[in-house]
Formats: sequence, C-alpha cells, structure tokens
Amino acid sequence: MLIKYNLIKGFWGTVFCIALVLVILELAAGTSGTANAATDIVGICVDGKMVVFADQKPIVDDNNRTLVPIRFPAEELGATVDWLNASRQAKVKNKNHATLPDSDILLTIGKKEVMVHGMTRVMDTTAVIMGKRTMVPLRFISEYMGASVKWDASTRIAFVFTRGQTEEEMNLIMTEKAADHHIPADRDRNLKILMYHEVAIPPKYATGNTNQLYVEPAIFEQHLDILKKNGYNTITLRDLYQHWEYGKPIPTNSIILTFDDGYRSMYDFVMPELIKREMVASFFIITDKFNHSGYVNESMIQEMHRNGMEIASHSHSHCDLRNADLEIELNQSKTLLENIINDNVYSFCYPCGLYDKNTIDYLAKCGYKVAITVNYGEALINQNIYELKRIRINREDQIETFSKKVAPPGKP
Ligand SMILES: [Zn+2]
Repeated sequence: MLIKYNLIKGFWGTVFCIALVLVILELAAGTSGTANAATDIVGICVDGKMVVFADQKPIVDDNNRTLVPIRFPAEELGATVDWLNASRQAKVKNKNHATLPDSDILLTIGKKEVMVHGMTRVMDTTAVIMGKRTMVPLRFISEYMGASVKWDASTRIAFVFTRGQTEEEMNLIMTEKAADHHIPADRDRNLKILMYHEVAIPPKYATGNTNQLYVEPAIFEQHLDILKKNGYNTITLRDLYQHWEYGKPIPTNSIILTFDDGYRSMYDFVMPELIKREMVASFFIITDKFNHSGYVNESMIQEMHRNGMEIASHSHSHCDLRNADLEIELNQSKTLLENIINDNVYSFCYPCGLYDKNTIDYLAKCGYKVAITVNYGEALINQNIYELKRIRINREDQIETFSKKVAPPGKP
C-alpha cells in the first residue's frame, strides 16, 4: 500500500519529510546528537530514478524519520551545503533547482530548532552524527524547497518529487518501482546462503583444506558479476530473519553472502567490490582476533556497518563450542560487537560448524535470532533458525562450478 509520508501543509505549500547526511570528514565526533541504534536502511527515489548511495546509506532514525546523505540535496535538489565547524551547523541553500523555490536553512547538530530565512522553526527530529559523518534531518529543508515526499512501506522507499507531479503521476511512479523491487512476502521460499572465508591469493604454505578456504580476488569479482547477471539481489541474514519472522519484504531472487573469520581483506577488498555493485553481505567476526594483524579492526567494522553490511559473531576464540565457556564465546562476543557498531547483533556462525543443543539454547538466551552452520544446502524456513544450511564456496569454484551452485531452481 502506498502511504503519504507525513505530508503536512507548510510555509510554501507542500511540506514533506526527508533528511540528509552531512559528510564532514574533519568533524570531531561529539556525544550530543550522535546517532543511536537506528540503522534500518531505506531507498530513495527522485522523480522515478533510484538514487545510488555508494557510501553512507539513508536510514530511518529513532523518531521514524528518513535521513539521507547531504550529497542528496546538493546532487539531487541542486542545493549548496556549507558546514560551520565551530558551531556544528549545516547551512543549506537552494538557488539552482529549476522548479524548486529558493531556501536558506540553518540546522544545528543535536537540536530540533532550525533557522529558516532567519526565523526559528522546530523539527520533529534532529541532526545527528554517525561515525565521522553528520546526519542532518532534511525534513525542513525539503519542506521549504517545495518538493513532495511519499513513503512506500512495502518497498521501504522514500519517493521524492521535485517537478510538481500530480497525485496520479506520483502514484504511477510508485507502483512501477514497487513492481521492480519487491514481491509480496513469501516465507516458504528457500534461499541460498553462500559461505566464503578469505578472499585472497593463498600463501605458499596453504595446503589441502586450508587452501580451499581462499577464493582469489579476480575469481571473486567474477562470482559477484555472475550473481548480478543471474538477477540475484543480496540481503543479509538479519533481513532473512526479519522476513521470516515479521514478513519484512525482501527483493525477488534474494541471496545471502556470508564471510567467516573477519579477515582484513573483507574491508580492503570485499566491501569495496560489494559497494560497487550495490550489494551487501554478512560478516562473522572472531572477537579475540579483530584488531590483530590480518584481521579487521574496530573502525573497519564500524565502516562496514555504516555501509549496510551486517556485523555478526563467529564466537570469541573460534573454539569447539561443545566444550567452551559460552558466556564468553556467545554473550560477551555479542556485547563487544554491539558496543562497536552501536546496533544489535542478530546472527551467529558456529566455528568449524561445531555445536550441540546446549549451544543453541545459549544462543537464544543471549538474544541471537539466527545461526548458520557448514551443512551443505539451501536455507529453508522449516529448518531450525539456529541451524541454517549454507552453500560452501571453495577455491576450486571457478566460473562453471560457481554458476551451477547459484543457479536458480529449474535453470541449468
Ligand atoms: Zn571460522
């Protein structure tokens, strides 16, 4: 169903709600106005065209408002944006857009009060900082630029209209996009979860099984291209859980990429390749290994999370969980990651695929929602949610065998 997204009458007419993220690299992170746990990603569509956000994705904040990067009003609405470092303020001016009126808006991080043409207005959310980026609610900016915004809950897309489209024209665009992006929740579907480890050229000493854990970067790129060619859309394990549990929509032909162990190559190579193709993945971190040479560190984990990647636990010390201190391995590793990403950790991956009933009970007790094994096969809703199967991708999986492993049912 198409729902009006907080449409209110405003100063110049249509008032609407979108928001922006201000990219200020030199900005010192402060506590006031720092974003909390809100990270649910949404899509933005301007006049029928989906906006690609390579870096910081739009999110819905704790006040249920959509926030988008500051590049958005600059690139999509023709505004100029200045950052005033000393006062932690963003000044947004629209002078260029052909069909939108001029505007002059001054927002302050962490404050609901906004100056519009020198007059104070009050927003229902605030500008925030996420990591090194400043997220500035664009509700008022958008209001005073005269565009319209509608929200489609089924696709989680905020539609922006800058050309004075009629109601009918807007609905047409929204219906079209809904058909492109999502199908109604079909929770019986099976789904492929691919299992990767290291994406790198294996060292000379790697033999046998260890050697198979490596997928070479050039081959990996081909894997991603094959997925694109086959029309697959990547989602995270967390998305799958929310789909099965609450009916949250997921795209047609969804597939999940998982990466075990948290190697440094995940940040250096895998994430950029995913972003290039507008893909996401779930990364399973060993919490006593990160920050060590060859593994991702805290700031890398934060950046991966900001880019829409799922950060999840692969235990604390990668031991046999049937004989381990589960408080440390399951609970503390979860808390550690949650403190780093300032978000909930949903998913768990058993080290070496070893677990028993006690492990599963403890996972549930810790608040994990879903866990993956090394058992080969597709994931199904009637599998135990803590025992989902995966399709292992090996070093020897070059184009032909990989294509077979990911071929949709009924296709060769
Ligand atoms: Zn592992």
